[in-house]
Amino acid sequence: MAQDKLKIGVYELTGCAGDALLIVDCEEELVPIFTAADIEVFLMAKSDNRHGDLDLALVEGSVSTEKEKEELLDIRRRSKIVVAFGNCACVGGIQAAFLDKKNWEKNLKKVYGNHDFSHSQPVQSKPIDAFVKVDYYLPGCPVGKEQFLSTFNRLLRGNPPELYRFPVCIECKWQENDCLLNKDILCLGPLTLGGCGSVCPDHNIPCFGCWGPTEEANLTSEYRLLLNKGFDVAAIKNRMANYSGTRIAEFFETFRKEKR
Ligand code: SF4
Ligand code: SF4
Repeated sequence: MAQDKLKIGVYELTGCAGDALLIVDCEEELVPIFTAADIEVFLMAKSDNRHGDLDLALVEGSVSTEKEKEELLDIRRRSKIVVAFGNCACVGGIQAAFLDKKNWEKNLKKVYGNHDFSHSQPVQSKPIDAFVKVDYYLPGCPVGKEQFLSTFNRLLRGNPPELYRFPVCIECKWQENDCLLNKDILCLGPLTLGGCGSVCPDHNIPCFGCWGPTEEANLTSEYRLLLNKGFDVAAIKNRMANYSGTRIAEFFETFRKEKR
């Protein structure tokens, strides 16, 4: 007897929709993807969306409104497995780069004045695991095609994803690149999850950290190394916080408190 297909939903919260687009961009694999599973929800790709129980939800984007918070809680309630899909969902992305609530409120006012938000109240942007349990994290800005297809395949067969755990520096070394840090260029390769194929350092461009931080990133060590190389605190902080959201912002908060 044929096995039931998995019911899958692709959701987009606050982000650029680059991860959902990555799926649509899998041109040759798109028909097999839609044939192998029942894609119940995918606003970017289909109009007949059914918001019922799911085996798997891929959630892109961070939570930046009350409405998104409710939507995410509802997705979690209906889904057996929730995957944080892309950097914004995993760590918050650019919109969650700084934690300071006072500054967030100040900035909101600066941009929107006393605007009355009738659709949904904005909240300080956070990664999805600030609100719900996340089963797996698929990093990237956007997620890499190879890593998405491998994860999708494994989850369809009931297996957990196998993801890169090492930093960009490993891939960079495989290419035998000269290290940009040795040329006093601010490169975030040591802190950033591999999987992109070190595409930037391969072209002499420093890594900006767009795949988010590795679990074992030694932030203190990189921070001190960059300070010793003469970079100022603001430049380091801005670069490190750029794509890595709350994770890096929390580091700087702790660091600041320790220095008091
Ligand atoms: S250039 Fe950047 S990514 Fe490559 S080894 Fe040096 S620090 Fe790591
Ligand atoms: S910025 Fe870093 S993580 Fe992003 S693609 Fe370039 S090398 Fe890879």
